[in-house]
Amino acid sequence: KKLGIALVGLGGYAGGQLAPALQETEHCYLAGIVTGTPQKAADWKTKYNIPDKNIYNYENFDQIIDNKDIDIVYVVLPNAMHCEYVIRAAKAGKHVICEKPMAITVEECDRMIAACKDAGKMLSIGYRLHFEPYNQEMMRLGTKKIFGEIKTIEAHDGMGDTNGWRLDKKLAGGGPLMDVGIYCVQGCRYTTGLEPIAVTAVEGPKTKPEKFKDVEESLDWTLEFPGGIKAHCKTSYTKNMNLLQANAEKGWFKLSPAYPYRGQQGETSEGKMNFPSVNQQARQMDDFALAILEGRATPVPGEMGRQDVKILQAIYKAMETKKRVEIV
Ligand code: NAD
Repeated sequence: KKLGIALVGLGGYAGGQLAPALQETEHCYLAGIVTGTPQKAADWKTKYNIPDKNIYNYENFDQIIDNKDIDIVYVVLPNAMHCEYVIRAAKAGKHVICEKPMAITVEECDRMIAACKDAGKMLSIGYRLHFEPYNQEMMRLGTKKIFGEIKTIEAHDGMGDTNGWRLDKKLAGGGPLMDVGIYCVQGCRYTTGLEPIAVTAVEGPKTKPEKFKDVEESLDWTLEFPGGIKAHCKTSYTKNMNLLQANAEKGWFKLSPAYPYRGQQGETSEGKMNFPSVNQQARQMDDFALAILEGRATPVPGEMGRQDVKILQAIYKAMETKKRVEIV
């Protein structure tokens, strides 16, 4: 059986990546949509052959409880809206995928996890890189200590430009750290298999103060891990950067670019990596559908998203107080 997915929020990521990926999935398909824009409803209905009964808006969304075609609701809205829609989806008896960052506070994450648990439904976060072979190789090399103990990590993720809700703290929860810097935090966590214990952070200068009134323009931070591992991380909304490198006792391994939808390149101190290019989003959604069908856990659960939000909040606290902040 193929599980039916309903996408909530038909913006750039849902339209550009998730809907096309759902044409390649084996265990799930695009069954429904939730949108506030009637024209988008009409366009998607034609393009993806979606029946009228599976098209919702934000007001009548809760009626999805009665729709047997929809097994999974995938929330692809601005960050500050994730909490409300994940909870409404769980209350409607659906399994949920929520985009990263899971929410803008840990308290919201707690409520989202509790709502899914109370409903007996699974919750997963859209961490596509866990299903991408080059990033999976970083996990293997790091956690199996193929090059010995990791000493330092360099993780950089920045975009040259952005606009819209991502510049509005109320909707985004912060700046590039929430949006792309989160991939550095993830990269450090899955490469070491460890949790950071403390952080220091320095906000970059605002070269465009009018544009970045509300959120940081760039940010450098250092995560400390058990065993003295230090991870130097950078994010920006004015500079393109894309790197995940681990330096270990007996060599190094790195991806550059590390985090894009496709086109990862990897190398170690012993030579180039060579893995197939895959559709990350299709793999991610198929794995979640299979987890539901097989009654097993997802490798990217709500708890993982919550931990990242906890770390992001600690990074902001370190930035604001200019002090080392312990992550407990
Ligand atoms: P987007 O701006 O392209 O789309 C957002 C959608 O939300 C739009 O359809 C918009 O109409 C709708 N919306 C509803 N209420 C809104 C409001 N009050 N303000 C603004 N928009 C509103 O954004 P996106 O790039 O599709 O990002 C959506 C989510 O997906 C974000 O949480 C983002 O972090 C995440 N994302 C994840 C990845 C990934 O690789 N996993 C990539 C891109 C985006």
